[in-house]
Amino acid sequence: MSVDYWGDRPPTEIVLQNMEKYFDDHDLDKEVAGLPSIPSSATRTPQTMPRKGLRRHVKSIRVAAREASKNQLLSVNSDHQYTHRLMVRRKSTKMWDQTVVEVKPEQRQRTPASPLHLTISTSADATASAEEPPVQWIRGKLIGKGSFGRVYLAFNVVSGDMIAVKQVDIPNSRCRDDRQHDMVDALYREIAMLRDLDHENIVQYLGYGVDEQEHIINIFLEYVSGGNVANRLALHGGFDEPVVRHFTRQICQGLAYLHHRHILHRDIKAANILVEADGVCKISDFGLSKKNDYDEAYDQNSRMSLRGSIYWMAPEVVKNEPYSAKVDIWSLGCTVLEMFTGQRPWISFSQIAALYNLGHSNAPDIPDTISDFGRDFITKCFNTDPNLRPTAMELLSHPFCAEDPGFNFEEYVVNDKV
Ligand code: ATP
Repeated sequence: MSVDYWGDRPPTEIVLQNMEKYFDDHDLDKEVAGLPSIPSSATRTPQTMPRKGLRRHVKSIRVAAREASKNQLLSVNSDHQYTHRLMVRRKSTKMWDQTVVEVKPEQRQRTPASPLHLTISTSADATASAEEPPVQWIRGKLIGKGSFGRVYLAFNVVSGDMIAVKQVDIPNSRCRDDRQHDMVDALYREIAMLRDLDHENIVQYLGYGVDEQEHIINIFLEYVSGGNVANRLALHGGFDEPVVRHFTRQICQGLAYLHHRHILHRDIKAANILVEADGVCKISDFGLSKKNDYDEAYDQNSRMSLRGSIYWMAPEVVKNEPYSAKVDIWSLGCTVLEMFTGQRPWISFSQIAALYNLGHSNAPDIPDTISDFGRDFITKCFNTDPNLRPTAMELLSHPFCAEDPGFNFEEYVVNDKV
């Protein structure tokens, strides 16, 4: 089957123009009440949602999508510095502290899901009040399943944003046991921790809502078209070095941002790096992430548990020693290796054999075919002494991360190399 876009997932524009295909459960001509008339891009700032005081209408989902699509095109055409459509990025609207209502296929009116107001008031979005009309959204096609939930395409009918929703099942609040209570609390803590993250190389968390009837937490995320790096590797094999460098620099930037905020991702691997058609990478899947409550993300903390994917795991994690954000640097080395070779680290080892080697502070082999800069970068990430392993910020000054002004990601896309 031929597709007219790069990657596994279509760009927003294509979804908006083919809503029947991606939201096929819905009657798109059904009218939804309380939708604003969306201002044109000329008056709309990235974080601006149509808020209080704006006239609200009844309109169909189809019309809302059409307006959103027009808006996207307007924002492309009105900004002359962007000659290429793919370069235009509009930030998705955040939904924190707002009532979030899913418009379900068969049921236009339903009880609003109760928004959970976490005790965070520093965010710029914490200004939302009860007067604000609810955010209404619809769920579309399944994007994929992970260990902690299912990710679907979704459309914020009010703001016109294409988003992704991660749905995590939670046990009924009336019959949760202690372990299940802990699990739900941990999920809320994770959401609270990720709420204020805002960086180009991190998948943005937009908000969440609880569906009490279906016992689901909906976590709203920025929608990233394209696909994950692991899928691209499975399709094309290892990438050419300029592409590896381009992705590595962005992952390092995302990690430097996270670590600066004391957050350890703990599951860095190609499958958790999303990449869009213009080559922008975003770190995703924060299900295992953790805040280091010490002074520095790089301070070794003994209250950390064994987490992550074995083949990408640092020796100190396997050995159950205190660890720090340096574990992400080891996993970054594994990911760079993965991007060069198209294969997971420890490719000729079983999990037990990999664990044994890590327990003896061995690192995966680095093939000779990799350039000197590449080998040096990976070798530094694989320093078995976490204190000597560089920080993400230090790695950004490594020549392997230097920006190449002549690099053009599109050439690799056109030549079917990524
Ligand atoms: P696991 O959680 O077991 O490590 P995973 O990373 O595949 O697995 P999820 O993060 O739940 O699990 O993602 C499921 C699928 O949805 C993956 O294919 C992932 O690439 C995709 N996905 C996740 N977040 C987004 C997003 N914001 N936009 C687009 N696709 C996404």
